[in-house]
Amino acid sequence: MTPTATKTTPEVSILKQYIAGKWVDGSSSREIVSTNPADNRQVLGKVKGADKSDVLKAIDAAQKAFPGWKATTPPARGRILMKAALILRERKEELARLMSLEQGKILPEALGEMEKGITLIEWFAGEGLRMGGITQPSELAKNLLYTTRHPRGVVSIITPWNFPFAIPAWKIAPALISGCTVVFKPASLVPALAVGIVKAFEDAGLPPGVLNLVMGAGSAMGDILVEEPRIKAVSFTGSNEIGKRVHTIAGARGIPVVCEMGGKNPAVIWDDADLELALAGVMKGAFGSTGQRCTATSRLILHTKIADQFLKMLLAEVAKIKVGPGLDKASGMGPAVDESQMNTDLEYIAIGKKEGAKLLCGGNRITTGDYAHGWFVEPTIFDGVSPKSRLWQEEVFGPVLAVTRTDDFDKAVELANDCPFGLTCAFYSQDLTLAMRFTEEIEAGMVHLNSPTIGGEAQVPFGGVKGSGVGEREMAKEGMHFFTEQKTVFLDYTGARRASNLY
Ligand code: NAD
Repeated sequence: MTPTATKTTPEVSILKQYIAGKWVDGSSSREIVSTNPADNRQVLGKVKGADKSDVLKAIDAAQKAFPGWKATTPPARGRILMKAALILRERKEELARLMSLEQGKILPEALGEMEKGITLIEWFAGEGLRMGGITQPSELAKNLLYTTRHPRGVVSIITPWNFPFAIPAWKIAPALISGCTVVFKPASLVPALAVGIVKAFEDAGLPPGVLNLVMGAGSAMGDILVEEPRIKAVSFTGSNEIGKRVHTIAGARGIPVVCEMGGKNPAVIWDDADLELALAGVMKGAFGSTGQRCTATSRLILHTKIADQFLKMLLAEVAKIKVGPGLDKASGMGPAVDESQMNTDLEYIAIGKKEGAKLLCGGNRITTGDYAHGWFVEPTIFDGVSPKSRLWQEEVFGPVLAVTRTDDFDKAVELANDCPFGLTCAFYSQDLTLAMRFTEEIEAGMVHLNSPTIGGEAQVPFGGVKGSGVGEREMAKEGMHFFTEQKTVFLDYTGARRASNLY
C-alpha cells in the first residue's frame, strides 16, 4: 500500500494522514498504534496523530477543492465513485483480512462488510445519473415549478470502529456524489482500514482536497470538526454520549447534523414462531460481530410457552461457538475490539449478576494459552432480567444477551419499548395480525419480521429513533439528501405582466 503504508517490518505499516491529496504525518506528539485485538502483542500499524492544526489544513484543502468538485457534473462524480468501487472489489479480500486483524471480526463477517460497503458506493455512484429535484404543476398557467439540489460545502464525517469500512462508505459516497468535499475522521482503533478506503478513492482519480483523512484522538480534535465555521454539515456515527455532544454543538451553530448512535435491540419470539428460524436469527443478531453492532440483538423477549424450549436450543447452539481470532477458519466469534470494550463487557456481566439476573452461560474472559494476549469474552446469556435493570436499559456493545418472558402481547411490546434506544427490532411469529400490530406499536427505526435485528440495504433508509438517532436517515436517497440544499424554482413563461401572484 505504498506510499500510504510502507512496511517497516513484515507486520507494522506506517500510516499517514491524507490532506490536500498528499500523504503526510500528523502534527500531534501522540502516536496512534493499531494492534490486533486477538493478539495484542501484534502491532499492525502506527500513525503520527493529527491535531487541530491538521484538521484546519484539511478544512482549507476541502474548501479550496469545493468549487471544482461542485462544478464536476454528478454523472462524472459518479464515474469516479464507480471506479473506486471497482478498485475496492479488487482489494476486497486483502482489506477484509486487514479488517479481521485490526477490528477482530471473523473473516466471513469482514468479507460481508466489504461487500456491503462496496455495494453502497456503487448505489450512490448510480445516483449521479438520477440526482435531481422534482417538478410539480403550478396553480398558475404557463408556470413551471421545480426543485434543484446543491451540495452544502465542506462536511465532517466522524465514524466508529465497529464497521470500519461500511460506515465510512455509506457516509463518504453520498457526500461525494452530492458534490460536497469531506474531512473524514475515523475511530483511532481502525486507521489501516480508513487508509484503505481513502486510497481507493485517490487511485480512482478523486481530485486533491475533495476527500481528506485526519486520524487522531476524538477528544482532541472532535470539537473543531463540528465548530469550525467552514464546516457546513456533520455526519456522525458512534456512542450516544459523543453523539449528543456533537448534536448540541452543531445545533448551536444551526447546521444540519445526523447522529446515528447506540442500540439495545429487542427480538420477540412468539409462541407460534418457527423456532429454528428464530434460533438462527438470535444467534446471528446477538453473537455475530461479537455483539459489537449497533443493530445487535441484546434483549430477548420470549413467549412463556416456548421460553424453556427455546433457551435449551439456544444454549446448545451457543455451546458450539468457537471463540477465536478472526482469521482462524474455525472461529465463530472474534474478540472484543480492545481492552476497554472487553472491560465494559465484563463490567456489565458483573452488573447483571449483582442485579439478580440468572447467568445461563458464559460470563468470563477467556485467558487460556494464547487467548491471554487477546480480548476474548465468552458469549453470555442472562435469564430473568428485570426491565428496570441496567442490563435491560443500557447498551453493552458486546456478546451479552438479556432475556425475559411474558405471554401477553401488549406486555411484550411494552417491554420492547421500555428502553432509551430505538434502532431496530425483530418479531418472530406466523400471525400476520400480531406482526402488523408489532410493526405499528414498536418504537424503532427498523423492523424485522421473522429475520434478525441486523442488516441494512443501500436502497432503503437506515437509522433509529429515541436515543438511537437524530437527523436525517442514512443510506438511500435520504442519506444523499442530507448533503444537499434544495432550491424551489418558480418559472413564469406567460410573457404577460401579472399584477400579483396567487398568495
Ligand atoms: P464513540 O462515540 O466513542 O466514537 C465515535 C467517533 O467519534 C470516533 O471517531 C471518535 O474518535 C469520535 N469522537 C470522540 N470524541 C469526540 C468528540 N468530542 N467530538 C467529535 N467526535 C468525537 O463510539 P465508538 O466506541 O467508536 O463506537 C461504538 C458506538 O457506535 C456504539 O454506541 C454503537 O452503537 C454506535 N454505532 C451506531 C451505529 C448506528 O448506525 N446507529 C452504527 C455503528 C455504531
